[in-house]
Order: sequence, then C-alpha cells, then structure tokens
Amino acid sequence: MLAESSNKYVTFSKNVFIPVTNVCRNDCAYCGFKARHLRDAYLLDEAEVLKFLRGARHRGATEALFTLGEKPELSREFPQYKDWLKELGYSSTLEYLRALCELAVREGLLPHTNAGVLSYEELRYLRDVNASMGLMLETVARVRAHERSPGKRPELRLRTIGDAGKLRIPFTTGILVGIGEAFSDIIASLEAIKRLHEKYGHIQEVIIQPFLPKPNTPMCNETSPSIELMKRVVVTARRILPKDVAIQIPPNLVPLERLKEFLELGASDLGGISEVTLDYINPEAAWPSENELEAAVKPFLLRERLPIYPRFVRRGWYGERLSTLIERYSDEEGFKRRDVNCNSNSG
Ligand code: SF4
Repeated sequence: MLAESSNKYVTFSKNVFIPVTNVCRNDCAYCGFKARHLRDAYLLDEAEVLKFLRGARHRGATEALFTLGEKPELSREFPQYKDWLKELGYSSTLEYLRALCELAVREGLLPHTNAGVLSYEELRYLRDVNASMGLMLETVARVRAHERSPGKRPELRLRTIGDAGKLRIPFTTGILVGIGEAFSDIIASLEAIKRLHEKYGHIQEVIIQPFLPKPNTPMCNETSPSIELMKRVVVTARRILPKDVAIQIPPNLVPLERLKEFLELGASDLGGISEVTLDYINPEAAWPSENELEAAVKPFLLRERLPIYPRFVRRGWYGERLSTLIERYSDEEGFKRRDVNCNSNSG
C-alpha cells in the first residue's frame, strides 16, 4: 500500500471556500481578509452559504471549507456583529458554525472548519460534524505583525492543535513564511508541530505558506519570501516532520511553472482548490484548474483526496454523522473514489 505522503502521488481536494464572516478580534499586520470598515464587514446568512454549497456540489467538490475571523463576538470594532448573529437566530458563532456544518453534510459535502483558536470544549462541539479541522500555527516567534492579535500567541495556538490531538481530530496546520520571523523560528515552529504529532498522531498536513503583501495593510510594502527561501523551508520541513505528515504547497501562491521543484524536495499535497469560489485570503491569486495542475506536476501523479486524509479514513477517525458520505466517497485506500458521483444528492 502506498503512503499518501510518498512522492508517487501529489494530492489535492476539491473544495468550496466559504468565508463565513470577515469580522475578527485580531488585527494581523498582513491581513487583507479582515474587515476594517463597517461598510465592508459581513456575516453570510444560510441562504448565501447554501448557494455556495450547491454550486460546489454541482461541480463535484467534496469539501466545504469554512473559514472566518477569530472569535468575531470579541471584535471591538464591530459590536454590531452580535446583533447580526441574533438576527440569524443564533446566540454564538460556534452554534451558527455547527448549523452550517450540518447544512453542508445534508448537501453532501464534508466540512473542514478553520475558526482560529478554540478551546477543547469548542473543538469537541464541532468534532462530529467536521471531517477534519485546521489552524495555522504560523510561527512560534513573537513577531511585530502579531502585536495587535491576542489570538496569535503561539502557546494558545499550540494548545488548540494539541487539544485537537486529544480529541483525535484529523488536523491541518502550517507556517506562514516571511512575517518577520528568523529561520531558527521556522525550525522551532516545525519542531513544535512535530512534537504534537508524535504525541497524538493527528496532523495530516503542514502548509508552507508564503506571506504575500496585501494593499492597504501595514505590511503592504514588505516583500514576499523568495522561491529559494521557500524551497529551503520545504527541505527543512521534510527533514523535521515525520514521514506520515504531508507537506502542502498552495499552488496558487507559487509560480505554477516552479511547482514541481517543491514536489521534488518533498512536498506532496496541493491543498484544496475551488472551481466556484476565490481564495478569499489571497483573492488576487487564482487557483489553477485540475488540468493545469495535472500538467504542472508531471511526472508526479495527481490524485484527489477528501478533506480527511486517506490514513484517517482507513483508521475510521470520523463520527457516525459523516460515515455515510466518507464511505461513499472514499476508495479502499482512503482516497477519493474515481467513479463516485458527487453531483447527486442521495445521502
Ligand atoms: S486572525 Fe486571520 S482574519 Fe484575523 S486578522 Fe489575523 S489573519 Fe486576519
């Protein structure tokens, strides 16, 4: 049996990126996602989310990626957020998120939620309606870019990642390269992830994400890390991380013609790509199509996976609520079945 992080396959999932709200209690100096003016702030309602879900299902996606600002109820800039939530009939973001995950499952999609720092209880509350969950560690360093972001304290993020391990939640994390950290911090961040994985065995992939400057942000004039630095980080990550943890390179954030160089160094996953929505965190960076990816990674073979990695499918790290979908969509190795019809809504 092939290990999914072996270099034979390069994996990806088909998702729909649902930016539930851009209200966030943090204020990271590089962030172009968070609302900075009331006129730009939003909270998607269920009808809007349903439109995303149905569009994605129609195009064969299996993953509903729910991304949102962290603890929006604690935003000092937009106290109105709580009223918006109340108007939708919910008393907390978490309760609303759970309802959206349930909606996604009813529509035939497997949720993957990335809601920022969560407590053990909050993770447990969302666990049975998520095929996997995620939280970028970003860095264990105290960087200036995070000085206005209480949720970016590394110990809080490591605690959430560890709690997910205690709960046996297949988990995605990653580092953000080029936000003011030293190379020794990159090593320390990867080693921290490695320690948690050695303890709990729950990390499915580590994203190596380059910082990209966004207009109208305090870091708009900073430069992105070079390709050479990104390659050095991939080599270092492959050396530090256990072999069963995949290294992900987002294919819309590096030049497509250079993608293969990262694969040759040990990256083996391309994350979620969407045919129906933007990457709302990096809206200027369009996702390549599946055909473009297939051509770019040759001679590596592109293989579709679910938001839950094959070995967690094989081990049964999912609850009953998701079992019908996961078992219908996965093959005997735990990858996405090639012959399954994700367009029909029969379950
Ligand atoms: S936590 Fe995320 S959404 Fe919030 S400001 Fe930072 S990068 Fe932006």
